[in-house]
Amino acid sequence: MLNAIKSFLELLKGMWITFSQIFRGPQTYTYPEVKRPVRQRFKGRHVLKRYDNGLEKCIGCALCAAACPADAIFVEASENTDERRFSPGERYASTYEINMLRCIFCGYCEDACPTEAIILGDNYELSFTDRSQSIYTREKLLETVPPGGLPTPQQVEPGLFDRSIPMMEDPD
Ligand code: SF4
Ligand code: SF4
Repeated sequence: MLNAIKSFLELLKGMWITFSQIFRGPQTYTYPEVKRPVRQRFKGRHVLKRYDNGLEKCIGCALCAAACPADAIFVEASENTDERRFSPGERYASTYEINMLRCIFCGYCEDACPTEAIILGDNYELSFTDRSQSIYTREKLLETVPPGGLPTPQQVEPGLFDRSIPMMEDPD
């Protein structure tokens, strides 16, 4: 008899827990319509940044590639000219690739970059179905041109960017 009462009380307790949850709001998100906010220090998909005028911050120095413990970054630099200018520096990254199958999202590339050109953003939508799609190219990583800026390459006034100046100050 005592056991029967104990079981009944346990049953009531279980039902109470179940019914008390009915009036709580949903604990899930209707992804992909609603995206879960990420923490401030979340390290998601990389973004190659631009200056306000549209020029790319990356100067093709490959320090990020040297710092990468997973050997996930490949950089090839080319010279800027006044007719075809991509960055304020002497050179720009004509090829910039990150192999997302290798990346461990440590953020060392971000730390190593002298111009704050590469950042790990808040985008976590990194799924792909083919290995070839795991290579994120410069075109894919570059952020969109800010309002008022111009796309690269830009044609600039001859001598506007003195080659003795390795990089332009971030206007921000
Ligand atoms: S986050 Fe780390 S592993 Fe990924 S590309 Fe940058 S340095 Fe390499
Ligand atoms: S992202 Fe930064 S560290 Fe990497 S090549 Fe460009 S400027 Fe150099």
